[in-house]
Amino acid sequence: MTRSILWLRRDLRLTDHPALLAAIRDANHLLPVYIHAPEEEQPWQPGAASNWWLHNSLIALDRDLRKLGSGLIIAKGSSRLVLRKLAIKHQCQHLFFTCLPEPALIQRDSRVCRELTKAGVSCHQFHSYQLLGGNSIRRIDGGSYRVFTPFWRALQKQGMLQRSTEPAPKSLPPLPDEIDSLEIDSLKLLPSNPWYREFHNHWQPGEAGAFKKLHDFMQQTVNDYHTGRDRPDLSDTSRLSAHLHFGEISPVQIANGLSARIGGTPAYTDNEGASQYLRQLAWREFAIDLLANNPDTDRLPFDSRFADYPWRSDKQAKNLLQKWQRGETGIPIVDAGMRELWQTGWMHNRVRMIVASLLTKNMGIHWLDGARWFWDTLVDADLANNSLGWQWSAGCGADAAPYFRIFNPVRQAERFDPNGNYIKRWLPELSTLPSKSLYAPWMAKTSELFKAGVQLGKTYPEPIVDLQSSRREALQRWESVKRRSNTAGSK
Ligand SMILES: Cc1cc2nc3c(=O)[nH]c(=O)nc-3n(C[C@H](O)[C@H](O)[C@H](O)COP(=O)(O)OP(=O)(O)OC[C@H]3O[C@@H](n4cnc5c(N)ncnc54)[C@H](O)[C@@H]3O)c2cc1C
Repeated sequence: MTRSILWLRRDLRLTDHPALLAAIRDANHLLPVYIHAPEEEQPWQPGAASNWWLHNSLIALDRDLRKLGSGLIIAKGSSRLVLRKLAIKHQCQHLFFTCLPEPALIQRDSRVCRELTKAGVSCHQFHSYQLLGGNSIRRIDGGSYRVFTPFWRALQKQGMLQRSTEPAPKSLPPLPDEIDSLEIDSLKLLPSNPWYREFHNHWQPGEAGAFKKLHDFMQQTVNDYHTGRDRPDLSDTSRLSAHLHFGEISPVQIANGLSARIGGTPAYTDNEGASQYLRQLAWREFAIDLLANNPDTDRLPFDSRFADYPWRSDKQAKNLLQKWQRGETGIPIVDAGMRELWQTGWMHNRVRMIVASLLTKNMGIHWLDGARWFWDTLVDADLANNSLGWQWSAGCGADAAPYFRIFNPVRQAERFDPNGNYIKRWLPELSTLPSKSLYAPWMAKTSELFKAGVQLGKTYPEPIVDLQSSRREALQRWESVKRRSNTAGSK
């Protein structure tokens, strides 16, 4: 009698699931278990919006497992102890799981495997979280990449579409008798502040929701992705990030789906939209690789010259941070983004870059303060992507935007929200301002503001930073950092 445990973490799906397929191969009984152990991810235990997603994703997965004759066992506590107890109680011989390439989780998983091996359980790990798993993209000298373009070339060279994807099993081995499981509700994942009420209008957590998003993207927008992906006023991106983070769809399923849709390999096709999309998926691979090989970069700057950067943390900075979080900076594209984030749990990539640049460069506030806010409010909060995105925007990351390139949010908005529709959607109080004043209401004529019913400081804030002088100050801070590191280097 073979009994196997399938330890589900961020692989909350039934299709293209190598660990699941291996687990059921010879099993008479399968124990699919989710263990709630947020403290094992410290200091980055999942934030509130992620927990909202997870709650709903677990419900969807349990439903899907039941349809195939199984069900999800819910437990909480130390993963090591829960799995050991489960294995001993139900006399399981095998543990199967999908590798998660984050530093804290890699260590946790090896502790679990040591413990279970001692208890006579054999552990089997599978890669499906990445296009190519297992640290397989290496420079010729064996080191890891620090710059995206050569990484991307190497990824293409290795062949991204190496494996075909598998459908879900038609049925699953049953659970053994007398299984103890907690209720999903008892994990108390839903945040106490119900700000997430509207999220259901935007997202359907779970595998079915992921495939619906993929299908819509393939049918409607992939061909325009290269021109539309930078436009927050359009819906030309896939919005698959949270589904990918929770493993409700695998990147190989997306890449293979893309090939099938365009009738060729996306990296080599004339379909500019498809190849650009694959390139963005490769940024996710790069972020994962970077964090796995530089485990401190969730906290420390990748560029060590920024180790002593004079980030502001005075009382005024705290006040600015709060206004940024609330979408009350008085700079419309920034406030629109922060309100999109609050109301939907997601923000367009272009706007993420703009709000991050304003916070770290114009306001001089530490990128970690921004990263933490995103961590708590994004449904797609992901340690690798978030760390890369913030460090990139702050200028201290791998392959980062040069520090002196400071986004002007007004110019960015004019360029990427050319009709102002994105700003109007999230800031209805400005919606009757004429286009040319919408991007910088503080420059508008009094008569225009009056006509549009806008009272700066009352119905909409005055800008909390002066874009020109704060830019100059940011450049001065950067010059002082450069001088210090040059002096240190020449000693
Ligand atoms: C400051 C900042 C913070 C960010 N934090 C996160 C985060 O916590 N989680 C997260 O998933 N992404 C993060 N990103 C990257 C990017 O903004 C999102 O992945 C993207 O907006 C998700 O929307 P989408 O699925 O429609 O993307 P699409 O444009 O459809 O791209 C498809 C997929 O490719 C990957 N991808 C796209 N762009 C990037 C990128 N720049 N870096 C890494 N992967 C990328 C994502 O997995 C995405 O789902 C951040 C970017 C910045 C600038």
